[in-house]
Amino acid sequence: MVSGFHIPESAREALELKASLGEGARFLGGGSELNSQTSQEEGIEDLISLARVNSKSIEFRGEEIIIGAAATIQEILEAEELPEVLHRACLQVENRSIRNQATIGGHVAAAHPYASVLPLLIALDAKLDLLDADLAPISLGIPEYLDGAREGLITAVRIPSFPADGGAAVAQYRRSTIDLALLSVAVFVAKKDAAVSRSRIVIGGPGPLPQRLIRVEESLEGSTLPPREQIESMVREQVRAETDSRATAEFRKHMAGVLVAKALTEVAS
Ligand SMILES: Cc1cc2nc3c(=O)[nH]c(=O)nc-3n(C[C@H](O)[C@H](O)[C@H](O)COP(=O)(O)OP(=O)(O)OC[C@H]3O[C@@H](n4cnc5c(N)ncnc54)[C@H](O)[C@@H]3O)c2cc1C
Repeated sequence: MVSGFHIPESAREALELKASLGEGARFLGGGSELNSQTSQEEGIEDLISLARVNSKSIEFRGEEIIIGAAATIQEILEAEELPEVLHRACLQVENRSIRNQATIGGHVAAAHPYASVLPLLIALDAKLDLLDADLAPISLGIPEYLDGAREGLITAVRIPSFPADGGAAVAQYRRSTIDLALLSVAVFVAKKDAAVSRSRIVIGGPGPLPQRLIRVEESLEGSTLPPREQIESMVREQVRAETDSRATAEFRKHMAGVLVAKALTEVAS
């Protein structure tokens, strides 16, 4: 049960609190996750609010878009200057109440298999700005963060600007409009003349962590996009899917192929 609520004024204070309060302490972003019933059963003792610590700013600096970790999914959706595909990924988050609460920092840290924006951030090679327990700044790719200990305070997400010859698309499958996504797909494609020169294919939901389909990416590069059926079969072959109470591995593989082919066709056409 939560017995302590802390409102630090700085990142230093937040990290010191986290270190001194120990295992039962969590950073609190928007609280959409931590305030939910499931989280309350997890034995969390202290919440450390990031409301006065992290920025909500959204800036274009040099070749990057820098989004403060406290920006909510709805604020990103409403930032007109951002690429349309980012808006579309944010709109996939199930409803406006969650979008109003959920911060981009919390979204990455929570890293749910059904995360709606995370696959796109990976497909766009976004990096995280983190502060470690000693306040040392760290820049980390999202896959490295997810594969590691997931420690530290996320302060910003940096997205490289789109190259002129590149485009991205997202696609999601959910069993009903009020369900969490079963699969979320994001693709990025750069083209030279009509051929694919570089691609990224990321699928969230077949297993616990988002997967990049590197072999499919490699086989697309250097030629025009193959027919949908061929893409679907390459994806089904490479994706590692699990069965659980929501869907079988076979269904996930099938839908992963359908969604990737749809997204690639949209962006490459
Ligand atoms: C009913 C419901 C529906 C949902 N639907 C969707 C959906 O459709 N799509 C989707 O993607 N997600 C969905 N979610 C999940 C939720 O929106 C995400 O987990 C959310 O993005 C978390 O953001 P937050 O700021 O609210 O995080 P919090 O709840 O505040 O925290 C989540 C986790 O992140 C950590 N954390 C937060 N901020 C930081 C930081 N800056 N640095 C390091 N760690 C941090 C916390 O300690 C905690 O472990 C849903 C959740 C609920 C309850």
